[in-house]
Amino acid sequence: MELPLREELRGIEPYGAPQLDVPVALNVNENPYGPSEAVVADVAAAVADVTRTLNRYPDREFTELRKELAAYLSGDGARDLTPEQVWAANGSNEVMLHLLQAFGGPGRTALSFAPTYSMYPEYARDTNTAWVTGHRAEDFEIDVDAAVARVREVRPSVVLLPSPNNPTGTALPLSTAHALCQAAADVPGVVVIDEAYAEFRRAGTPSALELLPTTPNLVVTRTMSKAFALAGGRLGYLAASAELCDALRVVRLPYHLSAVTQAVAVAALRHADELLGKVDALRAERDRLVDWLREQGLTVADSDANFVLFGTFADRHGVWQGLLERGVLIRETGPDGWLRVSVGTPDEMAAFRAALLEVIR
Ligand SMILES: *Cc1c(COP(=O)(O)O)cnc(C)c1O
Repeated sequence: MELPLREELRGIEPYGAPQLDVPVALNVNENPYGPSEAVVADVAAAVADVTRTLNRYPDREFTELRKELAAYLSGDGARDLTPEQVWAANGSNEVMLHLLQAFGGPGRTALSFAPTYSMYPEYARDTNTAWVTGHRAEDFEIDVDAAVARVREVRPSVVLLPSPNNPTGTALPLSTAHALCQAAADVPGVVVIDEAYAEFRRAGTPSALELLPTTPNLVVTRTMSKAFALAGGRLGYLAASAELCDALRVVRLPYHLSAVTQAVAVAALRHADELLGKVDALRAERDRLVDWLREQGLTVADSDANFVLFGTFADRHGVWQGLLERGVLIRETGPDGWLRVSVGTPDEMAAFRAALLEVIR
């Protein structure tokens, strides 16, 4: 029997970077540093504790977690943020899906500026939201006047913009975020600034969280998957108006955040200092990597994230493959000819540099 698969899903490959067992994995922008045994023990104790009540459904409003996330964001640019202004889900990917379920849908449009995160068109497809892109300039910045014009023309109910952008590493100036929010407000539309990599931004680069008190249609998403070194915990979240968060309660599945997930995230937040403790070292390693790649004569995008986009190669697949053969897995993504590498430990970066020199010389 032929499956009654939706027409637009026929022949589509599931999303995902190859999960290969390699010595040096620099392909999905994880934090390479795992937790200390002390943090392992504390998280495990929290899980043991919650296991005693796993016969019951979890707190579906994840009250304690929301409170702790609001407190964490208040230390990173958010002013007077209340727990009611925080929403969370299983990874910021699910947060984004909730946003499109609530604010996208048939007859509506989501807009981003390419090159951008490759998952966005998938959320749009899955929620029957039309998907439209504008373009970034050659240096991957967004021309604010052109972007505002695009918003007026497309009239999106959702604008999705990573800052720093994946795969380019480009941060969005607050003035551009603000101008886009104002243009979208007339539609009316919400503007989602996806700050998955915000903790890695360079000194002087602000967070869109600063705009929240004065910009009601702004949503800032964050994740514990990258700087926070908790990709396996699956916890993403956002800050927005309490009214917007309330709207998301309508589309979430019942008890979408398991008691285990909530306990792990709350315990991890108690150890934010340690889990984020390597962020400065990773930022320094990133800056060294950018310099080194430029010294090799390559073109490199400025990066506020924990990855670097570099190129350009006539045969980027060949370079990717050559690195893989030397045990180094990076990501074949971005515009034609470019490759993206995550920032790892000093040893991992040394392995990457040695392998790349062999491949391109
Ligand atoms: C990695 C990433 C995320 C985070 O995804 P999670 O579901 O939270 O693991 C979100 N947005 C962008 C642009 C990313 O690169």
